[in-house]
Amino acid sequence: MKYKRILLKLSGEALMGEKSYGIDPERLQQYTREIKKVHDMGVEVAIVIGGGNIFRGVQAEQSGIDRVQGDYMGMLATLINAMALQSALEQGGMYTRLMSGIKIESVCEPFIRRRAIRHLEKGRIVIFGAGIGNPYFTTDSTASLRAIEVEADIVLKGTRVDGVYTADPEKDPTATKYKTISFHEVYEKNLNVMDMTAFTLCQENNLPIIVFDMNVSGNLSSLVQGEEIGTLITS
Ligand code: UDP
Repeated sequence: MKYKRILLKLSGEALMGEKSYGIDPERLQQYTREIKKVHDMGVEVAIVIGGGNIFRGVQAEQSGIDRVQGDYMGMLATLINAMALQSALEQGGMYTRLMSGIKIESVCEPFIRRRAIRHLEKGRIVIFGAGIGNPYFTTDSTASLRAIEVEADIVLKGTRVDGVYTADPEKDPTATKYKTISFHEVYEKNLNVMDMTAFTLCQENNLPIIVFDMNVSGNLSSLVQGEEIGTLITS
């Protein structure tokens, strides 16, 4: 196994599937199957899930809601997704723990680094909900930070695009994909991998990132075995 402990970042939008809002149960089942495959291989799995399918802080300002308030609403949205994922994973026979950046004691544990590591060592899948717990951050930043804290080997950013391209492949048909690229080059070329806070955290802590298509069955399990899928970003 190339990666023993992974931090899988899933966007909230990906959970929508073909829908325009909320959670697509089929997509949830598909992700559960993919995660189970790597878990069964003995990989320790931590997950950060976004909330963009329900609410984003920046949307709040457009509808007259205070930005900070909106960010907290966004964090709560990530928890809704996290709870759905937790339930799906448990139905799939996996042991899980949901740890939150905001204290919501009836539903989940607060994030405690040492406890999170212990859960992972015991083979429990740990989902980090409610982001970092602070406004003006994103779940990408949460993924980078938590990955560093729990000493994950890599951040695996599962998206609907199969890697980092020279330009947006959905807009520019001549765009080509990078197999590997350095942090420096991503920065220099102004490529969109993650927001800058998230990206810089990985760069400064030598934490590699792989951007890959989570919707292709088998991608995640092939990746952890060292197959070259998506785009690897390293120092
Ligand atoms: N958010 C926040 N602090 C955090 C994580 C998330 O304020 O540490 C808020 C922010 O408003 C963000 C929303 O939660 O827009 C949902 O997360 P994100 O946009 O990262 O979700 P994704 O794009 O991955 O679906």
